[in-house]
Amino acid sequence: MKSERKYVTMAAVIAMETNLQTLEAQCQSCQNCPLGKTRTNLVFGVGVPNAKVMFVGEGPGAQEDAQGKPFVGLSGQLLDKYLNLIDLDRNKNIYIGNMVKCRPPLNRDPKQEETEACLPWLRKQVKALQPRIIVCLGRIAAQRLISTDFRVTRQHGEFIEKGGILMMGTFHPAALLRNPSQKADALADFQTLRDKMTELGLY
Ligand code: URA
Repeated sequence: MKSERKYVTMAAVIAMETNLQTLEAQCQSCQNCPLGKTRTNLVFGVGVPNAKVMFVGEGPGAQEDAQGKPFVGLSGQLLDKYLNLIDLDRNKNIYIGNMVKCRPPLNRDPKQEETEACLPWLRKQVKALQPRIIVCLGRIAAQRLISTDFRVTRQHGEFIEKGGILMMGTFHPAALLRNPSQKADALADFQTLRDKMTELGLY
């Protein structure tokens, strides 16, 4: 019985992985907004298909655009450090994506119309992954996914439920590199996340 359940679970994980790979392949030809023309590589997302926690950033920067992977620059190194502190790892137990999958030129913020054009892909990713928790990294993701008036400095670390998923906003790692004084608050948010995951049995 136990091995049968394990077999079903493995089949489900393989199906989720196939779904994500299919979505990524479809997204490769996306031209829903002008960013599709200027990107070097699509940055669809990385992580494991059965992740219980999904992190959503803003959009790829230069290094992400060059490598086709999210958060691989300096801010990604900081993110990985915070993740590792609470036993999370992009190669083992989480998934990381962005609001927009193509790099906005000169690292500007994605425009609202670009975020809207890319949102169907994020929705499909969430549907394939079925995460229990989504952590929004920074204002752009938190204001689009949690509430339009979300203030990171005031509401970081708070969980709210939306459509059966627990959502939390925290500081964008690039903001932490600019304002190291906010690192203690960010660390507290990751500890809050760890406590919530423990409470829900997600480790
Ligand atoms: N900043 C983001 O928001 N996403 C990335 O992938 C890299 C930097």
